[in-house]
Amino acid sequence: MTKDPVCGMKIDEKQTKYKTRYKGKNYYFCSQRCKNDFDEKPEKYLAAVENKSRRERKVVIVGTGKVGSTFAFNLMISGLANSIVLIDRNKKTAEGHKMDLNHGLSFVSPSKIKAGDYEDCQDADMVVITAGVAQKPGETRIDLVRKNAEIFKDLIPRIAQYNPRILLIVSNPVDILTYVTLQLSDYPMNRVFGSGTMLDTARFQYLLGEHCQVDPRDIKAYIIGEHGDSEVPVWSMVTIGGIPLNQFCSLCQKECTKEDKKDIFEQVKNAAYEIINKKGATFYAISLALVNIAGSILRDENSVSTVSTLLDGYYGESDVCLSIPVIINNNGISEVVKVELDRKEEEEFKHSAGVLKQIISEIEI
Ligand code: NAD
Repeated sequence: MTKDPVCGMKIDEKQTKYKTRYKGKNYYFCSQRCKNDFDEKPEKYLAAVENKSRRERKVVIVGTGKVGSTFAFNLMISGLANSIVLIDRNKKTAEGHKMDLNHGLSFVSPSKIKAGDYEDCQDADMVVITAGVAQKPGETRIDLVRKNAEIFKDLIPRIAQYNPRILLIVSNPVDILTYVTLQLSDYPMNRVFGSGTMLDTARFQYLLGEHCQVDPRDIKAYIIGEHGDSEVPVWSMVTIGGIPLNQFCSLCQKECTKEDKKDIFEQVKNAAYEIINKKGATFYAISLALVNIAGSILRDENSVSTVSTLLDGYYGESDVCLSIPVIINNNGISEVVKVELDRKEEEEFKHSAGVLKQIISEIEI
C-alpha cells in the first residue's frame, strides 16, 4: 500500500491503473484527475506531502456567517486543527472573526488562524462550505436550491482547482448541493460529502434520551434520507445502551404509544423551522456535528456517521446524494454501511430519494 500524493488516499499499487514515474520514483493515484494534477505540477504535490509529514492539519471554512464562525470557534477549542483559514465573500467579516478568535489563543491549543483566499485550499485536509443564503422563516430548504446552486457554480471551481483533500458541504439544501459539488468538482465520491442528517440524528438521539431519561450518547439511532421534510427515522434499529428499543420499552415502566413516537419524529423534523422562527438561525448543534466530522477525518477515526453521499445502488437507488450511515476516516468515506431497513422504512427511503431526484432534474448544473 502507498498513498496518492495528491489526495492522500491509500492506494494498492497492484490494483490502480493510474501511475506515473517522476525523478526515478513511481507514484500511484486513485483517479485520472489526481494523476493529471500530479503530472502537471509534481513539485507542488511532493512539497505538500512533505508539509503533511510536518503534521499540519488544515481546515478551510468558506462562508463565515453564523454556522461557519461558530464552527471555527468550536474547532479552535477542540484543538483538532492547527491551521484554520476563514474565507468569506465579505472579507471584513472573515477578518473580524480571525481577530476575535486569535485573541483567544492564550486559552486553547496553539493554532494558526487567518482570513484567507481560495489559494489557501491548497494542502487543506478539508474545506467546509457553509457559504450561501440561509433559510428564511417559512421558507423550505428546497426553496433555497436555485439561489445556493448559483453560488456553488462560482465557488466550487475556485476551490477544486487547488485540490484540497475533502469537501464537506453544509449549505442547504445540503443533499442537492453535495450532488452539485460532485458534478462541478469532478472529485471521486469518497472525497465529497454533506453534513446531511448528522444534525437530525443528533436531535433524534437527544429527544429519545429526554423521553427515555437516558444519556443521548448511550442511544444509537439514525435519521436517513433527505436532510429535510422527507427524512426517515430508522425506528427498527434504535438501541438504548445496546438494547433494541422494543426490548427496552418492555423493561421500562412508561407506556409509550405510537403517538409518542410520532411526536418525537415530528419534533426532529420540524426542529430547524421552530428554531429559525424563534431565533432566526440554527448554528450551535450543527457546528458541533461538524467538529465531530472533522475529528473523524483529522484523527483518521473510522467512525460511523449519517452523512449525505452519492448513492451507488443502495437499496436500488443511484445518482442521488442523501444520508446513510458510512465510515469516515482520513480519506473521506471509506465504506458505506448497509443497514437492514424494515419494509416501511425502505419505502420511505425510496420516496426520499425520489423527492431529491425530482429536484435534481429541475436544476441546471
Ligand atoms: P449566514 O447568512 O449567517 O452566513 C452565510 C455566509 O456565507 C455569509 O457570511 C456570506 O457572506 C457568505 N457567502 C455568501 N455567498 C458567498 C460566496 N459566494 N463566497 C463566500 N462566502 C459567501 O448563514 P448561516 O446561518 O451561517 O447558514 C449558512 C448555510 O448553512 C445556509 O445555507 C444554511 O441553510 C446552512 N445550514 C445547514 C445546516 C445543516 O444541517 N446542513 C444547519 C444550519 C445551517
